[in-house]
Amino acid sequence: MARVYNFSAGPSMLPESVLNRAAAEMLDYNGSGQSVMEMSHRSKVYEEIIFGAQSLFREVMGIPENYKVLFVQGGASLQFAAIPLNLLGGSGKADYAVTGQFATKAYQEAQKYGEIKCVASSKAQNFSVIPKIDPAEYTKDADYFYICHNNTIFGTKWAQLPETGSVPLVADISSSFLSEPMDVSRFGVLFGGAQKNIAPAGLTVVIVREDLLGKARKDIPTVMDWKTTVENDSMYNTPPCWSIYICKLVLEWIQSLGGLAALKERNTHKAKLLYDYIDASSMFTNPVAPEFRSLMNVTFVAANDDLNNAFVKAAATEGFVNIKGHRSVGGMRASIYNAMPVEGVEALVEFMKAFEVKNA
Ligand SMILES: *Cc1c(COP(=O)(O)O)cnc(C)c1O
Repeated sequence: MARVYNFSAGPSMLPESVLNRAAAEMLDYNGSGQSVMEMSHRSKVYEEIIFGAQSLFREVMGIPENYKVLFVQGGASLQFAAIPLNLLGGSGKADYAVTGQFATKAYQEAQKYGEIKCVASSKAQNFSVIPKIDPAEYTKDADYFYICHNNTIFGTKWAQLPETGSVPLVADISSSFLSEPMDVSRFGVLFGGAQKNIAPAGLTVVIVREDLLGKARKDIPTVMDWKTTVENDSMYNTPPCWSIYICKLVLEWIQSLGGLAALKERNTHKAKLLYDYIDASSMFTNPVAPEFRSLMNVTFVAANDDLNNAFVKAAATEGFVNIKGHRSVGGMRASIYNAMPVEGVEALVEFMKAFEVKNA
């Protein structure tokens, strides 16, 4: 069986050992005589899976005691509404840094629910940089300050977090989740969809500081209220059982590799292989300044669309799939999430070199 190297921005690759384990346990999970997809979420056997996944999450990320880990549905996109609904119960004001397409969506959604200010935007540079923010712009009594930590489409990442003082920092980490160690205590809320670095689509993970629960607007739908989720152990309604199970296996895989510090080293090595080659290449360029480059999503372009299209097509026939860039950026994008092996990146670089020689 030939497996491809999948450079998709999401859903993306899962570790092969996780897929093998899930396959082996497919028909009979741990002597239960059933698949995880079939079992009741209220059963003892399933409780071990969901609570096990939550406590592994805490362990792997080093999440402090005063934070809750929530498993919800609706994707990161549902949280674009859930965040203002859960947090705007105070002044009703929030600051947003608009650094890409997902940050723009979150900013637009929040405007339905409060007084929302864009404190910085890099739209004029087609989001190829993380903009400088003048702290004088910050709203002193804001209920929160919002950033998108890694901009999946544009391949940029915050090098330094904004200093927001007592205003809680809220970050969308959909595409940087579990890719490197993170100081959770710097944030009020961290959230992201699972389908990039954690599990199959369907699961969204929200990490929220306890004191931020109970600050919701009165009109918040019950199912979107983080307090409801916490009070019901993430089982107010049926959770995405299968995705949570794979999440647990992925966390065990991360531990077996040596945790997030080891993963960061591996991910940095992978990204460096690509960026170093692109910077030395006379065919491909990366539009992002080195200080803002993403560890997970590497964008690059050739001189014209004919070459870009030829590259994407040739790559696919060699087993490097989903490498076409987002339509708003053009060119190519290699998403090299945790599960992309080093060999996959090495093989891609070799292929790019050969393509460059052939088409010079
Ligand atoms: C993929 C992505 C989203 C959208 O996630 P859904 O789970 O599809 O709603 C939001 N933000 C970022 C940074 C993403 O990469």
